[in-house]
Amino acid sequence: MDSYRGARTAMIVGAGVAGLTAAAALAGAGWQVEIAELNPSRATSGWGLCLTGPALRALAGLGLADACLTEGYGMGVITHLDVDGEPVGQARPPRLLGARRPAMAGIARPVLHRILHAEAEQRGVVVHQGMTVTAVDQDGGLVHVQLSDGTVRQVALLVGADGIRSTTRSLLGLETSPDYHGQMVWRALVPRPQWATGIHQFAGRTDTAGLVPISVSQAYVFLTENGVEQSVLPEAELAPRLKQLLEAFPGRVAEIRPLVSGSESVVRRPVLTAFLEGAWNRGNAVVIGDAAHAPAPHMASGAALAIEDGLVLAEELGRHRSVGAGIEAFVRRRRQRCRTLVETSVTIAGLERVQRHREAYPLMDAGHRLMAEPA
Ligand SMILES: Cc1cc2nc3c(=O)[nH]c(=O)nc-3n(C[C@H](O)[C@H](O)[C@H](O)COP(=O)(O)OP(=O)(O)OC[C@H]3O[C@@H](n4cnc5c(N)ncnc54)[C@H](O)[C@@H]3O)c2cc1C
Repeated sequence: MDSYRGARTAMIVGAGVAGLTAAAALAGAGWQVEIAELNPSRATSGWGLCLTGPALRALAGLGLADACLTEGYGMGVITHLDVDGEPVGQARPPRLLGARRPAMAGIARPVLHRILHAEAEQRGVVVHQGMTVTAVDQDGGLVHVQLSDGTVRQVALLVGADGIRSTTRSLLGLETSPDYHGQMVWRALVPRPQWATGIHQFAGRTDTAGLVPISVSQAYVFLTENGVEQSVLPEAELAPRLKQLLEAFPGRVAEIRPLVSGSESVVRRPVLTAFLEGAWNRGNAVVIGDAAHAPAPHMASGAALAIEDGLVLAEELGRHRSVGAGIEAFVRRRRQRCRTLVETSVTIAGLERVQRHREAYPLMDAGHRLMAEPA
């Protein structure tokens, strides 16, 4: 038995959705957990997230679904509109938390992170901001983790939850490189129009746009810009450029456009995906969340997968007599679901790039059906 020589101690790298939920789940199962987070502050970038049914179900596993529904905006319908602004269909995802709770929720990222931080810390997790891992070594079931402040931890478990460009993954020699899909995605925070009580997705002639409510008073506009090089625009150009791109859309979007105000409320990110085909671990060190499997945002399921990872990891470690066996069971349970989701999101991104939206909708439904199955 290799495990627990260092007691149930874990070091997690990254206080994103995956790291915070894994920390809360492990702490709830009796582990002593520390997180090293590179960002010196708790500020998050990106305006909002759609928490799909599976994300809410996983959050319910930590007792946090109701807090997210209260502080976010519960929704039941996704409306698809064609290039002329006419509705072409509606999807009603299943209510995985029962008939009395909504199927999905929009939420501001800073709000979700506040809820996750509070829960992790309430369970005794220690979060070190402005810290990272610089070296990892293992012997006899113990992981020696060198941190950027010069200290070393000897723990039973190291979890790399440091996102698509994971440093932990590189330190462990687990190689994958993010793929760029010729699309840049925009998000802008706007006041919620009264008619926006669900997700709206507008198929344009070259790009795709949409609106997701994240509270009673706020929503975010999203736009996927097709066939462009990966680039960074000066901040002052963000709002004017997004408004210009939105000009191509008729109907409701014409109402939303004037709501985009200063560039500080706009973010623009490349569509990147990654999937770790080989091992996800070396001994008692494992990567989770976007560090192992990052889908394109088109399926709005990356956070759901990340939260599920945290819960399943804690569950499998609790079921097995050694950390190594728990990690192996975790990877066995997660690999195929995550691979299918990443591949589906890449296909949808490709179809949207060439405006074959109608072919993308059934794939989205299939992806959501897969995700509705137990994690
Ligand atoms: C534009 C966009 C929109 C999206 N919309 C949705 C959506 O609506 N719904 C949805 O479910 N998913 C969505 N996603 C996907 C979702 O954001 C990710 O899948 C999810 O955030 C992954 O969580 P994570 O914790 O694995 O990684 P991240 O959220 O990237 O968190 C990684 C954390 O690790 C930290 N870190 C990085 N490097 C280091 C290091 N070396 N040392 C220590 N810490 C480090 C980072 O600062 C960060 O805090 C979207 C993604 C994008 C890009």
